[in-house]
Amino acid sequence: MSISVPRRQLFIDGEWKEPLQRKRIPIINPATEASIGDIPAATAEDVDIAVDAARRALTRNRGSEWARASGAQRAKYLRAIAAKITERKPELAKLEAIDCGKPLDEAAWDVDDVAGCFEYYADLAEALDGKQRAPISLPMETFKSYVLKEPIGVVGLITPWNYPLLMATWKVAPCLAAGCTAILKPSELASVTCLELADICREVGLPPGVLNILTGFGPEAGAPLASHPLVDKIAFTGSTETGRKIMTAAAQIVKPVSLELGGKSPIIVFEDVDIEKAVEWALFGCFWTNGQICSATSRLLVHEDIANEFIEKLVIWAKSIKISDPFEEGCRLGPVVSAGQYEKVNKFISIAKSEGATILCGGGRPQHLGRGFFIEPTIIAGVNTSMQVWREEIFGPVLCIKTFKTEDEAIEIANDTHYGLGGAVLSKDAGRCQRITEALQAGIVWVNCSQPCFSQAPWGGTKRSGFGRELGEWGLENYLNVKQVTEYISNDAW
Ligand code: NAD
Repeated sequence: MSISVPRRQLFIDGEWKEPLQRKRIPIINPATEASIGDIPAATAEDVDIAVDAARRALTRNRGSEWARASGAQRAKYLRAIAAKITERKPELAKLEAIDCGKPLDEAAWDVDDVAGCFEYYADLAEALDGKQRAPISLPMETFKSYVLKEPIGVVGLITPWNYPLLMATWKVAPCLAAGCTAILKPSELASVTCLELADICREVGLPPGVLNILTGFGPEAGAPLASHPLVDKIAFTGSTETGRKIMTAAAQIVKPVSLELGGKSPIIVFEDVDIEKAVEWALFGCFWTNGQICSATSRLLVHEDIANEFIEKLVIWAKSIKISDPFEEGCRLGPVVSAGQYEKVNKFISIAKSEGATILCGGGRPQHLGRGFFIEPTIIAGVNTSMQVWREEIFGPVLCIKTFKTEDEAIEIANDTHYGLGGAVLSKDAGRCQRITEALQAGIVWVNCSQPCFSQAPWGGTKRSGFGRELGEWGLENYLNVKQVTEYISNDAW
């Protein structure tokens, strides 16, 4: 089973436009290492044109249809996009799988989530109409105040490759629901489905300039967007290193940013768990999407009383995970996204070995696969908390294990990180789960599970995992300005 990748251009002002420098970036299928097409590479001049289109689409006094639209009218576009996504689900799932190496089943679930997220923000766009001009109670009757929630303006959306269409949707859907206009810059490593989103926007008649999609490299297309004086906000998802650059660029013009960055999340397994269920969540929490999840619970802390039995089962189950071409029936682990990522993950593993850690399983390429950026699910024990493999985000199928004796010790090790995205606790003791939930320094805590994620619930981190929240009502607020309006009430004629 395969699929051919449509040849697309940049999507600017409602039209396909060739990048001014006519450069293109090859698309590599990570399962075969074959080139399967290319995407356009935007540069600063293309960014200027897209920003201009987005500004025009936002400007009410130039008669922009979008700027005059109510929340209910914007919701119609969002629902139309959701319907087209659902209609094109089989094709979009295949394109996602071939572009970033995700198992086809998982890619199909992502497409469902994408449609669901557009629907959810359509609801919030409608609800926004009813929330406008809510009165604020004041201590003086001579004044009347209320709040107007207004679109923040033209927004730059910069996204990563691990959930290409879903991460873009987490930004595009609330951004449009709020009435903003946007320039989306997806990752150069996986942009194919985002270009199909452009095609869908064209098909549903989204007004020109409302959503512009510019593919290209980070420094060439992302950096000019982040520093553009006519872009009012940057919403970024990606590595902490790039997030720092985005923040620095935005600071020059005091532009607000929201940052969803990396993680190194802990999962704490207590001695009272059902071991089989706990093993299942621990594996899912780290190896889902090949470990390429910002919130992957990749630091496993297991109570010493059950450590032997738990780790033995964990290793047996990890070895049974089917690793194959994402299109193969029953695939649970595909390749990592690129040659660069393959080298990076393998380097982490070899440094861990050289530092004396023990590789309990995996640690290299599966023998039955000669080509492709495949890495076996890898479990590492015998680590200490100063090792790179324990401290740094690997973003690949690598799980590190430590044991602990007491609750306090588990909390201390779990919080001993610069990151603060997610964390999980597995225990039958509700009181203990509550204590751990409160103690973990993280934006998301999972109790007796790891990784489930819903459009309705806030997503985001603390510490060097970033700030701002996506999803839920918080995701919409990201794209709204709060304007205070205060009126003097007087019986005197003016
Ligand atoms: P990355 O930082 O390399 O790239 C992210 C995006 O930034 C890409 O579109 C890239 O082209 C662009 N970019 C790169 N340099 C830039 C620059 N100088 N200026 C502007 N844009 C630039 O990250 P990645 O490798 O694509 O994604 C993996 C990272 O994303 C991991 O660290 C992961 O934890 C993180 N992530 C976080 C979340 C979250 O919700 N917190 C979700 C998914 C991924």
